[in-house]
Amino acid sequence: MIPVKSTSTTEVGPAPSHVPREGQSWRRELLEAVTDVDELLRLVGVDPVASRKQEEPVALRDFPLRVPRPYVARMRWGDPDDPLLRQVLPTAQESQPAVGYGLDPLAEADAVIGSGILKKYDGRALVIATGSCAVHCRYCFRRHFPYADHRQNQGFESLAALRRDSTIREVILSGGDPLMLTDAHLGRLLAEVGSIDHVTRIRIHTRVPVVIPQRVTPALTAMLASLPQRVVVVLHFNHPNEIDRHCAASLTGLHRFTLLNQSVLLRGVNDDADTLVKLSERLFGAGVLPYYLHMPDAVAGTAHFDVCQRRAVALHRELLARLPGYLVPRLVREVPGGTAKELVVSDG
Ligand SMILES: *Cc1c(COP(=O)(O)O)cnc(C)c1O
Ligand code: SF4
Repeated sequence: MIPVKSTSTTEVGPAPSHVPREGQSWRRELLEAVTDVDELLRLVGVDPVASRKQEEPVALRDFPLRVPRPYVARMRWGDPDDPLLRQVLPTAQESQPAVGYGLDPLAEADAVIGSGILKKYDGRALVIATGSCAVHCRYCFRRHFPYADHRQNQGFESLAALRRDSTIREVILSGGDPLMLTDAHLGRLLAEVGSIDHVTRIRIHTRVPVVIPQRVTPALTAMLASLPQRVVVVLHFNHPNEIDRHCAASLTGLHRFTLLNQSVLLRGVNDDADTLVKLSERLFGAGVLPYYLHMPDAVAGTAHFDVCQRRAVALHRELLARLPGYLVPRLVREVPGGTAKELVVSDG
């Protein structure tokens, strides 16, 4: 995402976060997202002074707080260690330098085949549909990506790279988050991609329906259903508490598509077997199959979320022992220059 200075502020009037907001439109939820740390803590009943211990993190300047209220509503009241709060609350640890943590750990700059288009893996191309996200996740591996250099929205000329390369069977809309686009904009992009004969699958990676369930509108569903290609939607849930009744209900709008989930293994958020088992079971209950469980990437500012490989593999073994095979996500890691995401199987 582009760490854009948010223009939305608390002027809109802080709604009590624990009041259901189902009626609110997704655009409005975007505008009214919480961008102030003190306000966020107040909304979840956590004492700002106690929880902030250290000085204002430098990181907040280039990657500001941003969290939509429907997501805040799923946080536990009064719990500074809430797993949802942890994913979005900036901490001073982010500014501590860590060895081996760089700005572009995945060397993605090498995979660029057109403006806003990456092709790292056989048959698949990834389109950066937009640089922005509905939520700013503190562990994000794209937080330093130079989105400004790969602005996709300005026109669709760069899609020529997709047309030219007939080995591309699957187009992945990513970002940032493609569901940040308006329906009109997304519709144009999808129509364009959908008109390419050699593309047989269109995949959308998104976290918007997680944080703003209202994004799954009948108009969105109809637009996806009108494509000649098979549509795969990969959601990004990390914790079972993210899937409440309202969120699960909104996902029914996507049930006619293939629904997968990818999570990031995060220390202090989901790095225990009970949580991961529950996540898989809740996902299945909402019609979503677990796909990937990612080892966190070595990105500057995220070292405090790291789970070591030995522990990760032990957790994954426990999932294999406790769940049916189809509910066990693949434990993977991204390796620069690899031909696929790498399965993590040994204790390292
Ligand atoms: C992760 C990724 C993909 C998709 O990989 P799958 O294993 O098919 O999910 C494609 N392109 C890029 C650049 C990626 O980072
Ligand atoms: S993890 Fe995904 S949704 Fe979160 S900030 Fe990064 S790109 Fe956006």
